[in-house]
Amino acid sequence: MDGVRYTGVPSPEELKNCPGIPSEERMKKGRVACVECVQEIPCNPCEGICPFHAITVGEQITALPHLHEEICTGCGLCVANCPGLAITIVDKSLSETEGSVDFPFEYLPLPQKGDVVDAVNREGQVVCSGTVLSVKKPASYSGTAVVSLKVPLEYVDQVRSMKRLPRTSLKQEG
Ligand code: SF4
Ligand code: SF4
Repeated sequence: MDGVRYTGVPSPEELKNCPGIPSEERMKKGRVACVECVQEIPCNPCEGICPFHAITVGEQITALPHLHEEICTGCGLCVANCPGLAITIVDKSLSETEGSVDFPFEYLPLPQKGDVVDAVNREGQVVCSGTVLSVKKPASYSGTAVVSLKVPLEYVDQVRSMKRLPRTSLKQEG
């Protein structure tokens, strides 16, 4: 079918029409979920896990999840509970030059707070360096860790994960 991509990476057009992506204005106010779910698949854990009912899939389980950006607190609970690894938490309010992206990370070794790592885009290409702000792995995250990376503001829209770490010591910021 013309125009349909099977790369597993959402196209710019799909992202533009995705009802799970918060507005620029909301991202500048602080942490908010970015639900980049663009395939009409039978799935809805994001809707059930959100304690604030900030994501709606509805009765038609193949509908794309809709984010209610004004309700979302950016708590992050949905990130590790999305089987499609389609949700990140973005924040463009850290400073005039920095923002953050929280993403699910299922590779070992895990980074540690303060590590400087290679931040990658949706295609897995390195786009900039990022500093690890936190690594969370509570029981409620079902075994998936969530890494929060501080990155230059201009890369917040691109960064969606980090490069896997080698089993060697890491550079530290500063
Ligand atoms: S970040 Fe928290 S409040 Fe926002 S959609 Fe996810 S679970 Fe709900
Ligand atoms: S849990 Fe993830 S994959 Fe499933 S509908 Fe929600 S965002 Fe999409």
